[in-house]
Amino acid sequence: MADSYFTHLECSSGCGAGPFDPRGLHFLCPSCKLPMLARYDLTAARAWKRESLAGRAPNMWRYRELMPLLAGDAPVTLGEGFTPLIHATRLGASLGLDRLLIKDESLNPTNSFKARGLSAAISRAKALHAETVYLPTAGNAGNAAAAYASAAGMKCEVFIPRDAKQPFVDECRLYGANVTLIDGLITDAGRIATETAKPHGWYEVATFREVGRCEGKKTMGYELAEQLNWTLPDWIVYPTGGGTGMVGMWKAFAEMEAIGWLAAGQRPKMVTVQPEGCQPIVSALERGEQTAGTWQNAHSVADGLRVPRAIADFLILKTIRESDGTAVSVTDTQLVDDMKTMGRLEGVSASPEGGASLSALRQLIADGRIKKHETIVLFNTGGALKYLDLLR
Ligand SMILES: *Cc1c(COP(=O)(O)O)cnc(C)c1O
Repeated sequence: MADSYFTHLECSSGCGAGPFDPRGLHFLCPSCKLPMLARYDLTAARAWKRESLAGRAPNMWRYRELMPLLAGDAPVTLGEGFTPLIHATRLGASLGLDRLLIKDESLNPTNSFKARGLSAAISRAKALHAETVYLPTAGNAGNAAAAYASAAGMKCEVFIPRDAKQPFVDECRLYGANVTLIDGLITDAGRIATETAKPHGWYEVATFREVGRCEGKKTMGYELAEQLNWTLPDWIVYPTGGGTGMVGMWKAFAEMEAIGWLAAGQRPKMVTVQPEGCQPIVSALERGEQTAGTWQNAHSVADGLRVPRAIADFLILKTIRESDGTAVSVTDTQLVDDMKTMGRLEGVSASPEGGASLSALRQLIADGRIKKHETIVLFNTGGALKYLDLLR
């Protein structure tokens, strides 16, 4: 049994560049400047049986064979992943649904699913002997990067909008990261981060620039299948910013089909949820476009969704279309209300982004798209504690 089937990196755009060395320092495709993805020898991986998972630790590294580390590389882990899949009976009944499930990502280290992507990205950084990692962030990714960098004995440079909530800034510093406050949005933070990092040779762990970010998030797809006894739901409702989760889970489903863990033809419909004040993907889908461009004057209390331009926009749109899914926008007022609904009916601590997925679900039921008997997985992508001011 191999420890890893990781073979190479490949451009996601189909531009034909590559394959690239899995040990090389590659961020965007050198030819078309679009994201790269990690690839595996999926034919050989058919020898890896899902039964082998039984005795493994309940964290995302149980899927290590299809993670972007080579044999012998040690993951940097704080126990991320294998989060609860809760049967939300009270919330489901209030919406008239038979089977509503909440994947509660608030239980991850640093309180959000960003832990998955940063555990994988910083594991790769460590395997490649990086000393300092850096990234732009709306908040949660910075907290996760800071924590995993600390666990790996690395330095961390975080670039965060000045108007980010104070708990995010404080928590970065708690883990020993250096924080730079930026006047502007996450896209401005990204530009300044890249300029600042260049002369130092820091290792970038930004969304879709480090392949680990998507590979870590893909484990949510593996977990759903395992927790549902190797079936998948009819719908996945997912608050989308940079899109690593949407793209990552879709990749996971394809990989599991290729290695014989899932039968073809049972993939869910994927729903992207965005706030009204920043809905580039919703708008591009409506216009029938392949890319989304930049959303002007982006605003929302759901910081993780205030991403005016997603570099992987074309992959998010492709995922939605291939899955026969859709994209829905919700108001800030509604999503804050629905943070409270999840708390009141299910005891789940929901971030604004988690609240947004519930708000989107309401619309899809009202429109008749989602039916009573279907199985729906709502993603609560983070906890409420860093956003308590919204509840007052
Ligand atoms: C980053 C973030 C998102 C968006 O995730 P993507 O996978 O990048 O689209 C959603 N919710 C929370 C809480 C986040 O921190």
